[in-house]
Amino acid sequence: MDKPTLDTGTVYDVCTGTARSSSVRKALQGLKETVVRAAAAYEFAAARQAQHTLNHLKHQPDGESAAKATNGSINEELKKTYVNRMVSGAGRGFYNKLRGSCRGLCALCGHGAADTLDHQLPKDSFPLLSVVPINLVPACSRCNHQKKEHAPTHAGDQTLHPYFDGDVHDHLWLFAQVTGSPKPSIIFHVDPPADMPPAFAARARHHFATLQLSELYNSQIGNELRSLGMGLARHPLPPAELREHLQEIAEIKTAVEGRNSWKAALYRGLVDSIWYLEGGWEEPWR
Ligand SMILES: [Zn+2]
Repeated sequence: MDKPTLDTGTVYDVCTGTARSSSVRKALQGLKETVVRAAAAYEFAAARQAQHTLNHLKHQPDGESAAKATNGSINEELKKTYVNRMVSGAGRGFYNKLRGSCRGLCALCGHGAADTLDHQLPKDSFPLLSVVPINLVPACSRCNHQKKEHAPTHAGDQTLHPYFDGDVHDHLWLFAQVTGSPKPSIIFHVDPPADMPPAFAARARHHFATLQLSELYNSQIGNELRSLGMGLARHPLPPAELREHLQEIAEIKTAVEGRNSWKAALYRGLVDSIWYLEGGWEEPWR
């Protein structure tokens, strides 16, 4: 997805401008250039999948983790700028715009409704990035919760960044293995191709594991397979024709939802499953 065009300085001005205490307001506004510079460094690193190199921004400006920051410290105030003046308050318009930027969907799982914003680099570790638009990603509460406050230690050690890692989807890496024995099951897994850059491959794996996408996708397949099965019960197809039919659906899901969406992976998996083509579709898939 496209990165937001909101200007960091403008968002920061609006979100800090209504801090109740004039001394806090002054202190926050005195940091504007530091925040704008931090955002530029972040953008430079993110475009190169190198957010792990931003250690010089960690716990800045006062050197304390904002998770442990004492009340009234500047790091705590930066965090509050997001919580009190962006989630609600003067900056709410920016929050809503960012949250709705992925057609209302979570940009991390592509499935849940975006009911929150996720800090790609967590605000406890990177308070300077608390209200920096390119660090704020529309997300569902589930993904936001799974991701926790993780700060990356190497290039592969973080979830995919929807604004900067779009090229990862030039490669096909999500698959679903469909088997009938010992019992009908579908296992989603990441299998990066050999020509995929190692940082992307590691990130795709990290993303899938951290967000527990296997569980999420498996919780969704029942309805999809039941409706497919009901359609086939009405108009049964011999295996070769069913294969063609499923192949067509896989292509449509790829075009609409992306080649690494769970639906595209599911239909590719069905195409490759002799067991499914030869009658597995009759399973009730409870
Ligand atoms: Zn999600």
